[in-house]
Amino acid sequence: MTTQAIDVHSIATLAASLDGHVVMPDDETYDAARQVFLGDVDRRPAAIARVASADDVARVIEFARQTGIELAVRSGGHSTAGQSTTDGGLVLDMRDMTAIEVDPAARTVWAEAGLSAVELTKATAEHGLAVGFGDTGSVGIAGITLGGGIGYMTRKHGLTIDSLLAAEIVTADGRLRQVDTEHEPELFWAIRGGGGNFGVVTRFKYRLHDVRQATGGMLILPATPDVIAGFIAAAEAAPEDLSTIANVMPAPPMPFLPAEHHGKLVVFALMMHLGDVEAGKAAVAPFRALAAPLVDMVQPMTYPDIYPPEDPAYRPTPVQRTMFLHHVDLATARTIIRFLESSDASLRAAQLRVLGGAMARVSVAATAFAHRASRILAVVVNFHDGTPVDRARRQTWADEFWAALNQGDDGAYVNFLSDEGQQRVRAAYPRETWDRLVEAKRRYDPTNLFRLNQNVPPEG
Ligand SMILES: Cc1cc2nc3c(=O)[nH]c(=O)nc-3n(C[C@H](O)[C@H](O)[C@H](O)COP(=O)(O)OP(=O)(O)OC[C@H]3O[C@@H](n4cnc5c(N)ncnc54)[C@H](O)[C@@H]3O)c2cc1C
Repeated sequence: MTTQAIDVHSIATLAASLDGHVVMPDDETYDAARQVFLGDVDRRPAAIARVASADDVARVIEFARQTGIELAVRSGGHSTAGQSTTDGGLVLDMRDMTAIEVDPAARTVWAEAGLSAVELTKATAEHGLAVGFGDTGSVGIAGITLGGGIGYMTRKHGLTIDSLLAAEIVTADGRLRQVDTEHEPELFWAIRGGGGNFGVVTRFKYRLHDVRQATGGMLILPATPDVIAGFIAAAEAAPEDLSTIANVMPAPPMPFLPAEHHGKLVVFALMMHLGDVEAGKAAVAPFRALAAPLVDMVQPMTYPDIYPPEDPAYRPTPVQRTMFLHHVDLATARTIIRFLESSDASLRAAQLRVLGGAMARVSVAATAFAHRASRILAVVVNFHDGTPVDRARRQTWADEFWAALNQGDDGAYVNFLSDEGQQRVRAAYPRETWDRLVEAKRRYDPTNLFRLNQNVPPEG
């Protein structure tokens, strides 16, 4: 049955069967409900099912399977490929499923999939504990976990999936399964990096880490080739307690940055050291010594403060490319500066994250995220103005920048891919990982019901 054949009556029947509710195009809340994070993704689903329970999830999946309506699955709505919504299809929206059960003694938490990173982080930090997500609090725990999860704990505790102990997932056949290393281990393997291809996760169980002592915040340095290369060298040499995210970009007109630096290229770094405050100070010292900081807000802090308040109306229009780098030497740093200086996009940046540490000690075959040996994650990004002409121009810049930085690692981090086609999805997974994912897909979603994602088709 096609999307057009889904009538209001059948959606009303679905709605009546749910604990949650369904938002339709003529509802007052429809426009707000259909919005996702990206400002240039403007799709109009036939209906948005705001589910309230695992049973609801199963009912929506059953409905989609029986009717053939295109199904999008949305949690935090931050898909960098705009893949959590649909034109004319049905959105299964997890946002209202936000229950949290912390077990402080066992240092674990069960968290429903509709939570954002900041919501869960704030709740667990009340116990002095947290699991690591990314750099942005509003990102959904579901999407980031299913792709891997690279952020402020990567070097100390690994990826988000390295702290994932179990999950509950409704597969295409409508069955709710609890998966872990003992129960359906292949499915548990696949959802740790394989994205939303295998079903809808309703709850995650994470191991929690001690965050009672944290030193972090923003450090802004002038972006010379020496400082950029020196920053990456310092991040590689730093103790694993420290993870950093460095954005080379024109300085935004922030009130606490002297006006003469606005618009000039800076290294806008965010850092997080977990552990003793004196050790944190020592770990940050080499970065402070690279140049006189323009802004230095790195200080003892509570861990959730790494997620400052966000403007809910902020809906950016980025064009981005991602890759892994082996090194950032002076020549690489000069290339970064040259590209950033050549563009007039309202926002443009090269983001560099030094990996390694605990993330690199997990074996390549242990999870579907296989880039364990990759040393530096890079993203080049620039914003377009919403017009097709400008978008194409910004895409060319990103493509050329990406090609100029390429050091021969053709892998990609799946969570930073845009809608770049099947070849780039393949780049996220080495051959052996891909073949295993295809096997899991054939077993758990043979008709590719879950295809609005970085898709692993059952035919391989
Ligand atoms: C501003 C910004 C900052 C980011 N920073 C980081 C970062 O620091 N580190 C990092 O690793 N990543 C980062 N990301 C990438 C982010 O991890 C991915 O975009 C992620 O998929 C977003 O998850 P979400 O739940 O918000 O997205 P959604 O758009 O809701 O979903 C994304 C994908 O996951 C699938 N999905 C969502 N929920 C479920 C579910 N419950 N069960 C099964 N499948 C599901 C969807 O179908 C879709 O394909 C960032 C993205 C943005 C936009």
